[in-house]
Amino acid sequence: MRNYEIFFIRDGGDINNLIKQGYHPNVGRVYTSPQKSCIETAGLIYPHHELYKVENLREYDFERMQPKSETPVFTQRCVKGIEEIFADMSRAGIYKAAAVTHLGVIVTLLAGCGIPKAPPTDFEIEPGEAWLISMSAYLWQKGNVFEIVGKLIKKPRLLLHSCCAPCSSAVLERLCPDYDVTVFFYNPNVQPQSEYQKRLEEQKRFLEVADFGESTVELIEGEYSTEKFKSAIRGLEHLPEESKGKNSQRCEMCYRLRLEETARTAAEEGFDCFASTLTLSSKKKASVINPIAEEFAAKYDVEAVLEDFKKKDGYNRSVELCNEYGLYRQNYCGCKEADS
Ligand code: SF4
Repeated sequence: MRNYEIFFIRDGGDINNLIKQGYHPNVGRVYTSPQKSCIETAGLIYPHHELYKVENLREYDFERMQPKSETPVFTQRCVKGIEEIFADMSRAGIYKAAAVTHLGVIVTLLAGCGIPKAPPTDFEIEPGEAWLISMSAYLWQKGNVFEIVGKLIKKPRLLLHSCCAPCSSAVLERLCPDYDVTVFFYNPNVQPQSEYQKRLEEQKRFLEVADFGESTVELIEGEYSTEKFKSAIRGLEHLPEESKGKNSQRCEMCYRLRLEETARTAAEEGFDCFASTLTLSSKKKASVINPIAEEFAAKYDVEAVLEDFKKKDGYNRSVELCNEYGLYRQNYCGCKEADS
């Protein structure tokens, strides 16, 4: 017999962040405590769902109740609340739901009915975070217990500098399980402008159609200033993209321009860390790129995630994903010099 899954989400928190989190999974129905903070949180996380109010998901009434005498009453009320949800899901044939409620309700239910057993303090979560439980009719009827599957915690927010959709594909696949990723499309090196626009549109299209599991990936477009790029590489235009297996100084200046802007934006927008897709390319050396990222991480006081994304078959995976999503793959790096 199939189990019923319920995400118990704590009300409140930074609403803009909650919406960006993307870790609140798709559900068939959204239940909420009738109290204002829960209705607001539920409405913002699940704007397209009808909200089902469950009176018994109300918070403990700290002012009215005397803790010692009223606690069992509160526990019974919470149990009634989950029973109502369970019965409604069974009737509607829904196997996954969210219940937005208060910390007191969540810790009371999990400590009282959840297995494995643990004290209430072990179930404390931050606003916007959630616990996933799994209910079966058999276990519930046998002893009013459900299984605690785990806690859905906020992932660190990562700003990912992306040079193009193809390179971002395998990198996003690798990062999304561990980070709440936002793509930063900052590539003033790409010429002509029509090519820049084409790559940007392809990046947007990829983010719309790609499957990132339970995550959604937003995009920030950086400034397209070819003047900044020209000034960064002035005097180095004649150098080749690479020679004797090394990236040229022109390319190093190009990396510096893009990584500094990524680190600066990450710090300014409150991201926890940043990374770049640049190391996915077989022509681009992580040994050159990562120290630059580290330098700007220190300058702007934001963590750099240092990877060589071409490793672990990263490049081949990007080719596979390009084919899967029919992505446009350019045949030159970006600048006029690389094209010539
Ligand atoms: S070849 Fe690529 S990395 Fe090097 S300067 Fe041109 S656009 Fe930048």
